[in-house]
Amino acid sequence: TLSDRLTATFKNLRGKGRLSEADIDATAREIRIALLEADVALPVVRAFIKQVKERALGAEVSKALNPAQQVVKIVNEELVGILGGETRRVRFAKNPPTVIMLAGLQGAGKTTLAGKLGRWLKAQGHTPLLVACDLQRPNAVNQLTVVAERAGVGIYAPEPGNGTGDPVKVARDSIEYARTKQYDVVVVDTAGRLGIDEEMMRQAADIRDAVRPDETLFVVDAMIGQDAVNTAEAFRDGVGFDGVVLTKLDGDARGGAALSVAHVTGRRIMFASNGEKLDDFDAFHPDRMASRILGMGDVLSLIEKAEQTFSRQEAEKMAEKLAKGPKEFTLDDFLSQMEQVRKMGSLSKLLGMMPGMGQIREQINSIDERDVDRTAAIIKSMTPAERTDPTIINGSRRARIARGSGVDVSAVKNLVERFFEARKMMSKMAQGGGMPGMPGMPG
Ligand code: GDP
Ligand code: MG
Repeated sequence: TLSDRLTATFKNLRGKGRLSEADIDATAREIRIALLEADVALPVVRAFIKQVKERALGAEVSKALNPAQQVVKIVNEELVGILGGETRRVRFAKNPPTVIMLAGLQGAGKTTLAGKLGRWLKAQGHTPLLVACDLQRPNAVNQLTVVAERAGVGIYAPEPGNGTGDPVKVARDSIEYARTKQYDVVVVDTAGRLGIDEEMMRQAADIRDAVRPDETLFVVDAMIGQDAVNTAEAFRDGVGFDGVVLTKLDGDARGGAALSVAHVTGRRIMFASNGEKLDDFDAFHPDRMASRILGMGDVLSLIEKAEQTFSRQEAEKMAEKLAKGPKEFTLDDFLSQMEQVRKMGSLSKLLGMMPGMGQIREQINSIDERDVDRTAAIIKSMTPAERTDPTIINGSRRARIARGSGVDVSAVKNLVERFFEARKMMSKMAQGGGMPGMPGMPG
């Protein structure tokens, strides 16, 4: 995955303060591979990398992130941007019925989607009518009828056995039917072909002209990966569409189709289908898809959550303590903070990489595990009174603590000094209204 790759790239980049062209090139190479592995079409990969590079070169140098993290952040933001930013909603017509037309290759999942949309619309208080305009395949009308029944919505179809009817006439008549029967949304299911085909395009365009849809949705199987580019371009030119529905995301699709289609057509992906059942259907979430394409799975959100929880809890606890005066901050607090940061450190190792960690990440990087252990040993050799008020630690107490924890007297002295420094810094920060930092951490 990209996160594994960048961890390796990281090693060389870490510690440098700014983004050089070489840094960006090195990272871009890894991103390129990750995108190709996600089955994004090559021209889209090229255009995307170019975009990211331009932005990265012009980016202000971040104090919180190292160069690789900064590039990853840009990549993620660009991806989310191309994938549509926020989710787009269905536009309903002022004068019902609202007409939604589905177009796409055979097997893309149009008929299944018609049922899903039907149920979804019904749950929102609409009365949808599904219209069977796929008169190509013998069983297509039947399939839509079953789907409509399951979804509990209306169906408009030519008489059974009359499989060679005119789909354009069916489409046109269905609108009149919907109007008289008070259906407020019409979902027009159309015929697809296995490949791009002029006759199919012409028929879809004729149906479009007959019903003048409020929304034409291009339905595309996410599993076709980079082939999605050609298909999307053909439907854009042949029929035109307003939005995209990605299907079969429950398969092992890596999401490349999403990026390809969004990039090439500039149209929003509105829905995601992720299964054969009527409920396997959701609005499309660009941010989730971005992390899927980057191969970071839930890592991004885990990081975000960890970071938020951690800093919020810490900040609250410390603010509370310091409000009562600096003396409230004891060596026990000092130790528990160190251990918290260490815990984050093991988490970071577990995850491989944590973009967006900012300063906490820097502190984790600089943590010396043995130093935490030694500090813990020293503090645990102190009496509760000493931990609460370290000013009472005199020469003989120091010697006792050193003996008990197996360190030099100077190490005990050193630790107590560090503690006082940290406390001073924290109470200064608290007075200044800033967030209390993580005391005790070197650097
Ligand atoms: P159409 O030719 O575009 O109308 O496609 P269909 O709706 O008939 O779907 C073709 C096949 O894909 C059927 O077997 C569906 O059950 C299946 N299918 C549709 N959507 C999904 C999906 O989101 N996930 C999975 N796993 N299968 C799907
Ligand atoms: Mg169908």
